[in-house]
Amino acid sequence: MTQNPLFATYARADLKFVRGEGAWLTTEDNRRFLDFAAGVAVNSLGHTHPHLTATLKDQADKLWHVSNLYENPLQQKLAERLCAATFADKVFFTNSGAESMECVIKTARRYHYANGQPDRYEILTFDGAFHGRTIATIAAGGQEKYLEGFGPKAPGFTMLAKPDIELVKAAMSDKVAGILLEPLQGEGGIREIDPSFLKALRALCDETGTLLLLDEVQTGVGRTGKLFAHEWAGITPDVMGVAKGIGGGFPFGACLATEKVAEAMIAGTHGSTYGGNALAMAVGNAVLDVVLEDGFLEKVRSNGLNLKQKLAALADTYPDQIETIRGEGLMLGIKCKNAPTELLAKAREHGFLAVPAGDNVLRLLPPLTIGQEEIEFAISALNAALADLQDAQTAS
Ligand SMILES: *Cc1c(COP(=O)(O)O)cnc(C)c1O
Repeated sequence: MTQNPLFATYARADLKFVRGEGAWLTTEDNRRFLDFAAGVAVNSLGHTHPHLTATLKDQADKLWHVSNLYENPLQQKLAERLCAATFADKVFFTNSGAESMECVIKTARRYHYANGQPDRYEILTFDGAFHGRTIATIAAGGQEKYLEGFGPKAPGFTMLAKPDIELVKAAMSDKVAGILLEPLQGEGGIREIDPSFLKALRALCDETGTLLLLDEVQTGVGRTGKLFAHEWAGITPDVMGVAKGIGGGFPFGACLATEKVAEAMIAGTHGSTYGGNALAMAVGNAVLDVVLEDGFLEKVRSNGLNLKQKLAALADTYPDQIETIRGEGLMLGIKCKNAPTELLAKAREHGFLAVPAGDNVLRLLPPLTIGQEEIEFAISALNAALADLQDAQTAS
């Protein structure tokens, strides 16, 4: 049989990894790569982090899954810790980012329903957003390439052209349940949102009884140098979706909400068979053990700054290739003059992995545990890749 039995939904690079350690991956044929894709911001503590591996093995010997028919002390513990560290009072555990965002959307709508406003279901979103691949979250993301061919777009989502408070005010009505956005757009191309816009949104939401809904699936759990990216703007959301880095590679997510909003989600309104299973919760608690350690986030910030400065120097050296460097903490983007596909391919030849994103951006999402060695390697690999690219262009 020569045919590939997998759905052809991914254009996969021809690399077969068999081992990972920290920020490094090794292929079947023993080639080593520095992993600044980190499973698309998932391997927050790198590969095979000793504390995560030990925790998962230990939990595997005790209990894997019992469903949500019973009390779950590990869920309780992780929820308590998440609430203690954030704005939230209540948590619902899911298995992925899209499911977390589904829960965010459902919770927002149900809150208004419970408050006697069943027609208040519309969600305002922003151009360049990405919220997942379910029927509701592709409607929320609003990108034609993800909507095409999947039937009618789920109603109740209105996309605004840019993060501009006047546009938002003009779109407000008694149907608007919530305003949904990523505090720093990931898939859209590391597009920054002005903290003053988030502050203005918060104020507008407070004035109008609208809910501020944040998608921190990619930005959360230390990625930007704060536990959650909205902390940079000094505001809090009403409901927030989290996934990716919170599991460090074990697939799970969460929807966090204030008590007032979560109250509407009474028994029977929502559920998940796997959500919050023992293996996921054990790992989630272990991720928090590390991320909440004294000095951990400070180190993410200083490494992020250091990496960003070195990238800015590369941008100065290769003005024909790089337009600008953007992002926060260890969620950085190289905005290229052209599609970043070639730069990514060249970087791979020099043992370096990253992720393309929208708006001609090459995304760098390293494990949050990287140090000086990884930063130096990344810069020299990118430098070599950019030189290759430059040479190829001058030759042609
Ligand atoms: C990845 C991502 C999602 C979707 O997460 P999945 O786990 O792939 O379902 C949603 N929102 C944002 C901002 C993301 O980066």
